[in-house]
Amino acid sequence: MEYVPEPDIDKEVARIIAFFEWDHLDPKRVRTIRSRGSRSRRILARCHALPKAMQTGLALPAHYVIELVSENYDRLSEMEKTKTLIHELLHIPATFGGGFRHHDYVHGRRVNKLYEEYARHLSTPRRHRKHSPPRSRLLSEDCFREGLQSFCRPPPGRGCPATARPVLPLLN
Ligand SMILES: [Zn+2]
Repeated sequence: MEYVPEPDIDKEVARIIAFFEWDHLDPKRVRTIRSRGSRSRRILARCHALPKAMQTGLALPAHYVIELVSENYDRLSEMEKTKTLIHELLHIPATFGGGFRHHDYVHGRRVNKLYEEYARHLSTPRRHRKHSPPRSRLLSEDCFREGLQSFCRPPPGRGCPATARPVLPLLN
């Protein structure tokens, strides 16, 4: 198996966490990777946790890694990709301790409902959105991506609320 980190998908995961206000999830300790070489034609993604014994032995807090199985995940539609990320995030319990929530909790109906909420938010013009992530939660990357048309536009002379870095206009 070959694994590569996916920093762009980490950002998408952080956006999903911020949108749902899943405060029990620390986006810095939820990372995504893409794997190649799986024989499975069925598994789209897996959620891994640093086991309690490793956390204790290495004196590290809990971390989770969402593995996207390239052979299967890559051919999904954007909608299915987002649903897959939501599904894997739901596996992480409120305790964020290294365990998992199982498929009695993580199931299609719950994922679809959450996805619809998230997709509705994304398709609503920004000025009409009722539910924007609080400014303090914005990632600096969002500020740069969304540029000056963004709800996180800082007051004149001020930078991005998350980083205090200046916000640049979009180039395209
Ligand atoms: Zn699952």
